[in-house]
Amino acid sequence: MADYETHEHDVLVIGAGGAGLRAAIEASAAGVRVGLVCKSLLGKAHTVMAEGGIAAALANVDERDNWKVHFADTMRGGQYVNQWRMAELHAKEAPDRVRELEKWGAVFDRTEDGRILQRNFGGHKYPRLAHVGDRTGLEMIRTLQDHGIHQGIDVHMEHTILSILKDGDRAVGASWSLSNFIRPEWSGRQVCREFW
Ligand SMILES: Cc1cc2nc3c(=O)[nH]c(=O)nc-3n(C[C@H](O)[C@H](O)[C@H](O)COP(=O)(O)OP(=O)(O)OC[C@H]3O[C@@H](n4cnc5c(N)ncnc54)[C@H](O)[C@@H]3O)c2cc1C
Repeated sequence: MADYETHEHDVLVIGAGGAGLRAAIEASAAGVRVGLVCKSLLGKAHTVMAEGGIAAALANVDERDNWKVHFADTMRGGQYVNQWRMAELHAKEAPDRVRELEKWGAVFDRTEDGRILQRNFGGHKYPRLAHVGDRTGLEMIRTLQDHGIHQGIDVHMEHTILSILKDGDRAVGASWSLSNFIRPEWSGRQVCREFW
């Protein structure tokens, strides 16, 4: 008998931060069987630490804001070496993603007339960051997790992906180990490098 388990999914998403969770939700909405793998517990990702907020040109606080200004700010902030098409998509779609989070249950801070409040942040020309106090990432991941779980996404926590399995150029799977079973080994040279 094989001493390993096999899980079968139509789509396997590696990583359960904001990006992975949102990708898994989208795949699941298309009606396929989705597996979501994270090396730690669900919710323990960098996304949960985001404090400033989500940049999106909603123009709720300054009506001069729009996706083109957001795009220009992003390209300038990246010293113009960013992938411009990704920056364009991000600037155009961010407002819809924020409204979507709200529809799925995220409770953002509000302006006096009840719209999503936005604040200034480095590199952004106008107040642009939709936020929830200083815990925006927590609200974002809580919302995505709740939504994803109720869509029937199959979550594999504390599984670390070790390698991508390929058939020619096509990725067809991934090998994993229970995170607790990974024993890092350091040579003296590598340990010294930590201090350089
Ligand atoms: C302190 C802090 C504050 C920040 N503030 C802001 C902010 O205010 N606004 C903003 O826009 N951005 C902010 N950022 C940046 C933002 O949080 C990240 O860019 C964003 O969360 C990245 O999301 P992600 O889904 O790509 O990755 P992550 O949230 O890092 O998720 C990565 C996922 O991959 C999994 N994973 C990794 N390797 C493996 C493996 N081998 N096998 C299985 N699973 C694996 C992890 O377990 C995790 O689930 C901040 C970041 C930090 C650290």
